[in-house]
Amino acid sequence: MITLPSGDVSHDDIGRFFAGRNIDAFCIADADRILAPSGRHPRDLLPGCRTVILYGAFMTDRLFSGTDEERAEETGRTKAVLESAAVALRDRFTQSGSAAEAILPSFPLKVEGGRLQGRLSLKHCAADAGFGRIGENTLLIHPGYGNRLALAAVITEQQIVPSPAPGVLPSCTHCHRCATVCPEKAIHDGIVDQKRCRNLTEYVPPVLRPLTWRLMRGRWSACFVTALVNSAGTHLAISSPCVACMTVCPHFNKERR
Ligand code: SF4
Ligand code: SF4
Repeated sequence: MITLPSGDVSHDDIGRFFAGRNIDAFCIADADRILAPSGRHPRDLLPGCRTVILYGAFMTDRLFSGTDEERAEETGRTKAVLESAAVALRDRFTQSGSAAEAILPSFPLKVEGGRLQGRLSLKHCAADAGFGRIGENTLLIHPGYGNRLALAAVITEQQIVPSPAPGVLPSCTHCHRCATVCPEKAIHDGIVDQKRCRNLTEYVPPVLRPLTWRLMRGRWSACFVTALVNSAGTHLAISSPCVACMTVCPHFNKERR
């Protein structure tokens, strides 16, 4: 497995590091380029952050058309690929004296403003970095892999030369297919209403939903729900997550290159 040099790290070094770890695409951005709001900016997690390294693993067909067992296997494989790269990269920076944090798409989550979200919005950081654009279904559309990249990131104090400016980025065509196909009518105005999306509601028994949505809006009760979600989170899994708004999108049918 390819490791990084011990001193300064170049864009090509990062490319070689990821190539040996089944990562399909990456982008290096100056932290100043990330426009995330206060509380969700990389510098809220790492005050001296200079560089954001975003990367993605292609979600294969097995995740969408395999048996339940194949899907679970593929979900585990994708998660392991993202995690092992994040941990190895973070540790490399830390060992060479630059603080770093691994940002994974899953836990820990936090409830804020009535919404459940990650510590950092990987999709919005990726869009700010020029890694792709966000569609109406709120998924990132990458120029090479469409909406089929599972994302993660490492943020670090080390300065690394950013990726070259992207060429033409793909755009959401605003065909509204995602909004139309959604069984819960959860997509509108470029937002997914979490209180309707099956991938969240499936975690909460119907009888507890009104109370849960109310607790998510309260300042202190939101902290309680955050703690609850994160402690229960690793034991919870939806066996067949809804992917309707993803697979209907014209940007879904991309093949791994
Ligand atoms: S994942 Fe399913 S329920 Fe959630 S917004 Fe997409 S189509 Fe709707
Ligand atoms: S289905 Fe159409 S509207 Fe929805 S994200 Fe894809 S291109 Fe945009």
